[in-house]
Amino acid sequence: MTASSSSAVQRLVSFLREDLGQQGRIPLHAPTFGRREKDYVADCIDSTYVSSVGDYVVKFENEVARRSGCAFGVATMNGTAAIHALLHTLGVGRGDLVICPALTFVATVNAVLYTGAQPVFLDSDPDTLGLSLSEVERFLQTCEQRADGVWYEGQRVRAALPVHIFGHVIDVVRLSEICAAYGVAVVEDAAESLGASRDGRQAGSLSVAAALSFNGNKVVTTGGGGAIVTNDEALAVRLKHLTTTARAKQGWTFFHDEMGFNYRMPNLNAALGFAQMEQLDDFICAKRRLADRYEALFQGCADVQFVKEAAGVRSNYWLQAIMLPDLTARNEALESLHAEGIEARPCWTLMVDLPYLKDSRRFGNLTVARDIESRLVNIPSSPSLMTPSV
Ligand SMILES: *Cc1c(COP(=O)(O)O)cnc(C)c1O
Repeated sequence: MTASSSSAVQRLVSFLREDLGQQGRIPLHAPTFGRREKDYVADCIDSTYVSSVGDYVVKFENEVARRSGCAFGVATMNGTAAIHALLHTLGVGRGDLVICPALTFVATVNAVLYTGAQPVFLDSDPDTLGLSLSEVERFLQTCEQRADGVWYEGQRVRAALPVHIFGHVIDVVRLSEICAAYGVAVVEDAAESLGASRDGRQAGSLSVAAALSFNGNKVVTTGGGGAIVTNDEALAVRLKHLTTTARAKQGWTFFHDEMGFNYRMPNLNAALGFAQMEQLDDFICAKRRLADRYEALFQGCADVQFVKEAAGVRSNYWLQAIMLPDLTARNEALESLHAEGIEARPCWTLMVDLPYLKDSRRFGNLTVARDIESRLVNIPSSPSLMTPSV
């Protein structure tokens, strides 16, 4: 084993086992539930409104919007559906290209494909792990200018879909300025960044609209769930309509005025999520304290870098991450941590390396994304690791 991976593993094991007193298997990210979750879910069951109607959906939507710095929220059954519905509603479809980071979770890209559009993959920024703004600019400069916008290899570039990787918010305000000059819309995949902010502005409020996820491993969970947040009232109304089968209000009739989706979030899930939202500040506080501890732990460990928020960013540290010197050290660290009962995981395989996406368009050589992919390891990130006494 290389010296770098063994020293990283030793530090991590002794920190989690001794300093934090964690016994048994340590998950990558476990949800935390309190009394309120049980109360609200029980209340929801007692009301009999467990499914597509009920007060908790509205309460949850309002709270998610508020905590994202937006006026409107539309809850969906998962984050992928939220991205799909959002792109569809903005008119992204067959023949269009959507700028995506090559380094992301596959849901970002699947949602693009569901609309009939295709992704064009760009490189990452080493400081934020997210889409590189300079690459976006370089890409747009090489596109062909036509009367209706910019085109790349015979397809119109309609939108950019940046992702705030692990809660590290990218500069969407600047990205939007760059894209606006070329008539390209920006929407955020804020699935990993609930409660995070940049220059005092919350992730999700930095573009036209954003998609969130409440999957079991996210900062706040509804079991499975998602939402779209926006300040655009007309867009919110249309999204609510389209995600609930596009049924027109015409008396008692079942009249659907266009192709909609059954993407709504059940009230039962919203009840769980509403209780979770009450704990959001505590979760983020615990995760940020954990990040401080990890940063100190790996300080002076020459070959291991803790992934820290960039200047101006207040990350939610959804998943904590370290960078090892190379692929070999990364693989050794993953092996040893799992042997110790500590759940760690590599970054996602680059989208361009997935068989069904191998012929996708791309721009540049994706060197930063490849470097991050080969060296990054996510380490235990549950808020419960930091009890108030630790
Ligand atoms: C979790 C996640 C999603 C959405 O996932 P769902 O499981 O469908 O809720 C989308 N994009 C990113 C980057 C994610 O991490």
